[in-house]
Amino acid sequence: MNKISVIVPCYNEEESIPLFYDTINKVINKMKDVSFELIFVDDGSSDKTINVIKDLSKKDKNVRYISFSRNFGKEAAIYAGLVYSTGDYVTLLDADLQDPPELIEKMYKIITTEDVDCVGLKTDAHKEYGIFRRFLTRCYYRLISKLSKVEMVPGARDFRLMTRQMVNAILELKEYNRYSKGIFSFVGFKTKWLTYKVPKRVAGASKWSIFKLFTYAIDAIIGFSTVPLTIAVFVGVLFCLISLISVIFIIIRTLIFGDPVAGWPSLVCIMFFLSGVQLFCTGISGAYISKTYTEVKDRPIYIVRETEKDSKRRK
Ligand code: UDP
Ligand code: MG
Repeated sequence: MNKISVIVPCYNEEESIPLFYDTINKVINKMKDVSFELIFVDDGSSDKTINVIKDLSKKDKNVRYISFSRNFGKEAAIYAGLVYSTGDYVTLLDADLQDPPELIEKMYKIITTEDVDCVGLKTDAHKEYGIFRRFLTRCYYRLISKLSKVEMVPGARDFRLMTRQMVNAILELKEYNRYSKGIFSFVGFKTKWLTYKVPKRVAGASKWSIFKLFTYAIDAIIGFSTVPLTIAVFVGVLFCLISLISVIFIIIRTLIFGDPVAGWPSLVCIMFFLSGVQLFCTGISGAYISKTYTEVKDRPIYIVRETEKDSKRRK
């Protein structure tokens, strides 16, 4: 009998988890020919999330959990879940029911009958977001597809069902700065995409602000492309050339017409502009250096405070 591991990253989801559990249980009861393990990853929640999960795991032996020592972020939670999973197939779901568990049945059917290693879900334009955010998202995907060799599918969610082979490949990528969408496409494998409309959150609030999304986008670009560094070099060379040509032009003009003082205001403007360009390019190098620094330190991606095994020991 095949086993599916369901990984659920949870950060302050005390209200959503019971609803999620009920919904996924309906799916589990329907799919009689597969066994399930539910892995809740408590990402250092500050509410009662961990108590809710512990109660579930006492009632239901298929419920496992990992609780982090602090908030490490969703990427870390996904990684930890993958490390702990033991199933032949692994699926990633949000606790807020924005990734409908009902779809697992369909995904499982596809992955077991068709020649694919992964069934992924993507959404069409998010209606719940404003025009501004949708516009930014579109620009972002266009930019990253130009900058990076790995293919980022617009609107792709983290929600997916993968084979054990693919999960093992993902676990080989032990980088600290994790960007799952990039990692999923980096490892390759055959992915079939299904489209669905993302429902609203059942409870609680989204943990993503525009600022958090922006830093995440920068992380993605730096993690999967070195093109910005090349751009910095290119801009540097371009401005050297421009200044060389200008110097020659000015020398010749002064020799012919005299008039050495005029042009002071334009000079100041040019200086401001060029220092801006320099700072921008230094900033780009700095971004890569800082990522290299965090990678070189080789710190753990997550730290476990407790798992279901510890709770048995404590009692
Ligand atoms: N999440 C997490 N750690 C965090 C932030 C979020 O584990 O630091 C989880 C959260 O509990 C949820 C999922 O990641 O299950 C998606 O988060 P959210 O619904 O806030 O994101 P959105 O759906 O708005 O993109
Ligand atoms: Mg959500």
